[in-house]
Amino acid sequence: MVRLRFAPSPTGYLHVGGARTALFNFLYARKMNGKFILRIEDTDLERSEKEYEKGLINALKWLGLDWDEGPDVGGEYGPYRQSERLDIYHKYAQKLLDEGKAYEVYAYPEEIEQLREKLLSEGKPPHYTREMLEAFATPERIKEYKNKGLKPAIYFSMPRKEYVLNDIVKGEVVFKEGTVGDFAIIRSNGVPIYNFACVIDDYLMKITHVLRGDDHLSNTVKQIALYEAFGWETPNFGHVSMILGPDAKKLSKRHGATSVEEFRDRGYLPQAVVNFLALLGWSHPDGKEIMSLNELINAFSLERLGKNPAIFDPKKLKWMNAEHFRKLDEEVMLDVSKKYLLKFVSKEDIDTNKEWYVRLLKSIKDRVEELSEIPHLVDFFFNEPDVEIQLSNEVKEVYRKLVEELRKIDEWNEKVIFKVFKEAMKNSKVKGKEFYMNLRIVLTGREEGPELVDIVYLLGREKMIKRLEKHLG
Ligand code: GLU
Repeated sequence: MVRLRFAPSPTGYLHVGGARTALFNFLYARKMNGKFILRIEDTDLERSEKEYEKGLINALKWLGLDWDEGPDVGGEYGPYRQSERLDIYHKYAQKLLDEGKAYEVYAYPEEIEQLREKLLSEGKPPHYTREMLEAFATPERIKEYKNKGLKPAIYFSMPRKEYVLNDIVKGEVVFKEGTVGDFAIIRSNGVPIYNFACVIDDYLMKITHVLRGDDHLSNTVKQIALYEAFGWETPNFGHVSMILGPDAKKLSKRHGATSVEEFRDRGYLPQAVVNFLALLGWSHPDGKEIMSLNELINAFSLERLGKNPAIFDPKKLKWMNAEHFRKLDEEVMLDVSKKYLLKFVSKEDIDTNKEWYVRLLKSIKDRVEELSEIPHLVDFFFNEPDVEIQLSNEVKEVYRKLVEELRKIDEWNEKVIFKVFKEAMKNSKVKGKEFYMNLRIVLTGREEGPELVDIVYLLGREKMIKRLEKHLG
């Protein structure tokens, strides 16, 4: 059975890159009837925050990506928060120490930094060797550490050889000998370094596939070396290309909203965000674009993960959101739009006049891109527009007649309304276009908007007459 995981560090919001990683792992796990695991990588104690962890969990749930094992739901291989697994990491670090594959380093951080700068100034890559690092362990230094109650850091002795990765996405990736030097696996404060904790956890949690961004390739070589040192089989790795902004530069804040939370708050539907993210580096064999989460699960395959960098196009996301919104069932459409209508009316009013509100939403549904635009699109239904317009005497005359006719009708439906329009225009020189355009402006204050018949129907007779009469004086 396949087991995949998403392993975010709770140091910020859920970035679209992270969300895409989560999604690919989720899709493959679901497609293969395997397991999807959430692991919180919170060993960077200074930057990790509980608030961010909650935010990540909420954002993932909002996207509809649920997990079988994780810090909140438990599971056979827990705990699923790295800060709760420190003993495990120490046990495995000790094993490497015992086998001579790792060693203790009695150097202060600034000394490591100086060593790094020295190597660079000599034109060498900053790769540390055991010899360089063990040189710090003078008897005095060891005593000093003891007196101060400090512990040595633990470094992994990186074998100097070539590593070859058979990547699911990139194919063969060769890491030439000497690409990396020795690296820390446990800091002197006892906290493990990402590459180490990640390997221990992926192994113990029986992870079979690791899909992640190719910014992790330089970590992967270190991780492969650790798997080898332990004599463990590596999982299958797949590194997807980074997401780029429309200017082909790495996606960042400069490009606007980049977190899932921001898109949620701006009124994007989770199914649209998921759909959009899936197509950043994966494609449907028939080029299908609009898909639900279930359709994505069914169609997903690792073979169709692309090598080329994906471009994040906010316009495409908008288009997808519009497509998904339009396709919603009436009830759901009302449900997701409700919070945007509360600016004008109460929840109770919406619940008791569901039909009217559904009709309202249908009248604007083709114009909605971000749901946060809904208030603007429906504003004139609730607030009288403030509009100055000079109507010709002929038009005024026709509208007077219209008001008269409107008063007479007792059934409020499109058919009757159109009949009344025709009636009012009869025997006048006013052309249809003039009649309708001016009517639209008088009623809505705008030249564009829903179909006139919807506007009239939804406004109702009273409001309509009131708005008309304002311009007939
Ligand atoms: N915590 C790491 C990150 O957020 C996980 C990377 C991985 O998937 O191994 O980048």
